[in-house]
Amino acid sequence: MRFNIGGITSLTTIDFPGHLAAVVFCQGCAWRCPCCHNPHLLPFSANSGDWRQLQAFLEPRRGLLDGVVFSGGEPLFQSGLIEVIKNVRAMGFKIALHTAGIHPGRFKKMLPYLDWVGLDIKTLFEHYPQITGVANSGARARASLALLLESGIAYEVRTTADPDFLNRTILLVLSQALANAGVTHYVLQECRPVASEHQIARTHAAAFFHDHSLLQQLHETFHSFIARRA
Ligand code: SF4
Repeated sequence: MRFNIGGITSLTTIDFPGHLAAVVFCQGCAWRCPCCHNPHLLPFSANSGDWRQLQAFLEPRRGLLDGVVFSGGEPLFQSGLIEVIKNVRAMGFKIALHTAGIHPGRFKKMLPYLDWVGLDIKTLFEHYPQITGVANSGARARASLALLLESGIAYEVRTTADPDFLNRTILLVLSQALANAGVTHYVLQECRPVASEHQIARTHAAAFFHDHSLLQQLHETFHSFIARRA
């Protein structure tokens, strides 16, 4: 079973709500978002672990951890992930997935084995290529969102407040579109730029979190809304 791992965090209390979990950072992604949270994980070849190492890590933690979070990079980039998830679930762990929904076909097959999903919705679907650099990426994210909402699995939908691509108007239009699609749990999260040219953007990104009128409208739009600072 081919599966490239970029790293493992032994314990998180925040990445899988209500659960003590380990985080597996999956290697690789087909998109190239400027505000990527872990750009060192984007090249698929730079792996530092595989399934056997993950299995060895998890074996002594049975009964100690509630679950395992698959994050990245982009977990759906790897076709081998579904078999890994089935195996980890068979070991007794619950499963959380952090994804941008880049591969709805793989996501659909995986959904029956997931307990919680954090789905990134980056902007209006028609604007996606501006951020990802990939044609039709918005259609992929839209399809994954529909699959998630149909599944009934616990989730959060989150948008990273990158001021290079989002403004107040876009955020309000996007949030209304998401609410109309059936999203009830929404998070606006602060951009954590790592490239030096994005340090100024970071200052501008914080402005979203001081816009009390915007935050109030988002609170009123969703059953659950969180403004998450970096
Ligand atoms: S989809 Fe996620 S992992 Fe891929 S480049 Fe964008 S932010 Fe990074």
